[in-house]
Amino acid sequence: MADAFENIFGQPRVRDFLRASVRGGHVSQAYLFCGPAGSNKTAAAYALAQAYLCPKGAKGPRGGLCGACDACSRIARRKHPDVRYYAPEGAGGYLVEQIREIVSDVSYAPIQAKSKVYILDRVDMLGTAAANAFLKTLEEPPANVMIVLLGRTRESVLPTIVSRCQVVPFRHIPATEAAGIIRQNTGASIETARIAIEACSGSITRACEFLKSNDSLAFRRGVVDAMSRLATADDWDIIELAAGLVRAAKAPLDDVRAALEAELSENADFLAKSAIRQIEARNKRQITAKTSQALHQVFS
Ligand SMILES: [Zn+2]
Repeated sequence: MADAFENIFGQPRVRDFLRASVRGGHVSQAYLFCGPAGSNKTAAAYALAQAYLCPKGAKGPRGGLCGACDACSRIARRKHPDVRYYAPEGAGGYLVEQIREIVSDVSYAPIQAKSKVYILDRVDMLGTAAANAFLKTLEEPPANVMIVLLGRTRESVLPTIVSRCQVVPFRHIPATEAAGIIRQNTGASIETARIAIEACSGSITRACEFLKSNDSLAFRRGVVDAMSRLATADDWDIIELAAGLVRAAKAPLDDVRAALEAELSENADFLAKSAIRQIEARNKRQITAKTSQALHQVFS
């Protein structure tokens, strides 16, 4: 049956495990999802967040597995104010300051739902100092908070973190299987699906988004076209090609910026001034990350 967990592609065991935990009412408050890039950990974390925050709850007719109400749809679009996603913001990993910000945020009441979910990506990049700032929160989160950590391998995550979490292993999804999953979800050819995975560093979820984004595809075509014309182009042609690419590259980023600003103003009423400043700083860092992601996707 179609529920929130149906979108955890290529991980039937994880899907069954999380579904059974939610239905049986024994969800943990701290999870560590371990698996290589492209094994759908992020999608699984958002699916779990849906099951946890959905107002129909575990006592609902479908065991809390709605996936269709307003809260579920906001979470799926990654726009729910009570589901927070973090990635390392320092060059070498998580900053201690960033972890302190998360720890203090955990103690605030939820904005729309009854509970909150914190998703921390790449906790293999959580150094000792940052981890120490986080241990107490991880060990005893407030009753209405769930923390989902994502890491590459169990061994790459500090033992003090691992021991405080329910560990869920994710399998490596072979390339041919991944391409099949993408074809199923976007209708793209296997060849195009392969290129998209390559461009998105192995992430199935991002490859699907990439193939559904007309801006990204148009820009990529522009780059390929420019490359093929370089051999016969004179200096003036090259300047024009470059200027065209810069304009095209900005378009999707403007969309990202507009979406972040809209989201901020939508939630501004609920937030204190200091929280808004923190979100603005985080948005700036997100735009920088999106810029490098877009460049990577286009030139790979
Ligand atoms: Zn729901």
